[in-house]
Amino acid sequence: MASVFTTEGEGLGKFLGVKPINASEEDLESLKKVLDSKVSDCVKTLKIKRVLGSWCIVCGSIPTQIASYDYNGATKIERYCDSCVEKQFGRSEQ
Ligand SMILES: [Zn+2]
Repeated sequence: MASVFTTEGEGLGKFLGVKPINASEEDLESLKKVLDSKVSDCVKTLKIKRVLGSWCIVCGSIPTQIASYDYNGATKIERYCDSCVEKQFGRSEQ
């Protein structure tokens, strides 16, 4: 999985940057509560989907950052957790 990004290229979107996932404190709080509780994985999964949209595309854990790419005007986003975003993009820009 070599995803060292090239800035532009056919089929590869233009990298727009990484920013924190846009979820309200409230949502994150309630997500945390659900994850700490004893509900079934299915419920947790639904909750993650509702609050964060999806999982870290690398390791499948709870994402905190969104990387976006521009594909000829269409924006594609990928979610990453803290450690994967670091591995993928480094820490240069916050
Ligand atoms: Zn990850």
